[in-house]
Amino acid sequence: MLRLERPSGRDDKIGSIHQITRLSPANWIDRNVKIGGKAMNLRWRPWWVLPYNLEHHRFPDGTYRRASMEKAGRQVEKSSSLAAKLLAQVQVPWTSALYVAPSAAQLSEFSFRRIDEVVLTSPTLAETRDLDAWSVSRKSFLNHSNITLRSAFRSADRVRGIPADVLVLDEAQDLLLENIPIIRETQAHCTRPEGPIYQMLGTPKSYDNPLEYFWSMESTQGEWVIRCSGCGNRTLEGVGENNVGPRGLICEKCGKHLNPFEGTWMRTGRDDAPVEGFRIPQLLMPYSYAYDPRIFGRMWAEIINKMRFYPRPQFYNEVLGLSYDSGDKPVTREDIRECCGNEHTFLDVEAFDFKIDPRIGNGLVFCGVDWGTGGASKTVFSACHYQGDVFRNFYMKKFEGPEADPEYIVPAILNLLERVRADMVGVDWGFGFGLNSWIRAGFGADKTYEFSHSQMQREKVKYDSSANVFVTNRTAVMSDLFRIIKMRGFQFSLTWQMLRDSGFSQDFLCNHKEATRMGKMIYNHPPGTADDALHSVLYAFLVSQSRYPRADLQ
Ligand SMILES: [Zn+2]
Repeated sequence: MLRLERPSGRDDKIGSIHQITRLSPANWIDRNVKIGGKAMNLRWRPWWVLPYNLEHHRFPDGTYRRASMEKAGRQVEKSSSLAAKLLAQVQVPWTSALYVAPSAAQLSEFSFRRIDEVVLTSPTLAETRDLDAWSVSRKSFLNHSNITLRSAFRSADRVRGIPADVLVLDEAQDLLLENIPIIRETQAHCTRPEGPIYQMLGTPKSYDNPLEYFWSMESTQGEWVIRCSGCGNRTLEGVGENNVGPRGLICEKCGKHLNPFEGTWMRTGRDDAPVEGFRIPQLLMPYSYAYDPRIFGRMWAEIINKMRFYPRPQFYNEVLGLSYDSGDKPVTREDIRECCGNEHTFLDVEAFDFKIDPRIGNGLVFCGVDWGTGGASKTVFSACHYQGDVFRNFYMKKFEGPEADPEYIVPAILNLLERVRADMVGVDWGFGFGLNSWIRAGFGADKTYEFSHSQMQREKVKYDSSANVFVTNRTAVMSDLFRIIKMRGFQFSLTWQMLRDSGFSQDFLCNHKEATRMGKMIYNHPPGTADDALHSVLYAFLVSQSRYPRADLQ
């Protein structure tokens, strides 16, 4: 039988500013909130402590975070936790909290089953109600705080004008993306000196929904990372299906049992992302009952059953708290991380030293330009060369803000081509039609190759003489680049940390495989994300093949 060490009291030494109770929210919840008549007991749910205490937790860089999101599997005590946290927040007098769910049914479920039930079964809370103003859509408290509940599936009208110090978007995967900024305006007039508190929760569906959008664009993408006591390997991507053992979580490297009570939150996204993200997979849930091996065993058996019998998308969404598409990524974060250098040798254009020749062994320099198409898509310039058998990117630049102006970009790119001593450049034909003529004129028509991606063409690359453009089979040429990344035949000159913080890593990670209606496999990325850096490297890689044809990719 699986043996678990009892978790040590990890509850916080966090300096609490909770005005009434002088306790951190997690401590307050542990003492005051009962779910189904029982205390939450956070010692057996250590992954909930940081989400509860977020606004009171001082991060190592000295900051506090007041915006968070939880991307969770089903049945991970998400709703109970949310109710508990909301109730902790309204203990501060004069707090206005606004809870928004997509549908009226979800709203009343939360209102009755979560808030009312918790309040009624937690004796100290029942007395704090203002019974004259206690309904499905409004919960008032004697300390002048209140929780307003609204549904906003198609329209945000019912939410407009409600001021909110605390805003919660529940089941956010079903909200409309364009309504979310409108709903967030309810926090614009918050007069609290520390600012409003914002929380978004949900269970993923496909990539194309607000939860995934904000997770990838705005959150720090936190994972519960557990270190294996056997081999020292850490679950840096969070726990997933490779960690499902017959009797509990196991290390995917050595097979030893993992103890999630020894886990810790780690960010896999940008440190400076505005929203603190937490993924909470169902795989952690049975451990909430690890004190009773019978309950634990039964719950774990259920997870194994779901792994066997659920359709895979459902298993990904509901058990792992992941979009299914993410199971079908051409390259993983680990792949990209392993292509990064230990040292930063990226050339900084500002400090670019003309005396340093980036070419080693007198190799050729291949560049690529992917023109931005607006929105998240920006123009990216890349410079690469071969170092032995490794295709190496030594410079990348994204043109953003005022630099995105075509009048700025063209001379800047011509200047870069000269500085990196480019031999050839591959450019995106589709959106750069006008701009490419300037590149040809400035850099040389014989050294400028234009590419146009096609989903239909059978040949990998074919020259169309009428348009003077190389037409590619988009899926096939992207697969080639993903393949050399997977084989570590590609290298960034940035460290992983820098690649991630510069935002470039996301460009290489946002694509997933998808089938068209005709059954063809294509690569796609969620709306609002961009893969321009990937394509700029791809164009450089394509032009390189006219000089260094790759026998391994034929
Ligand atoms: Zn191990």
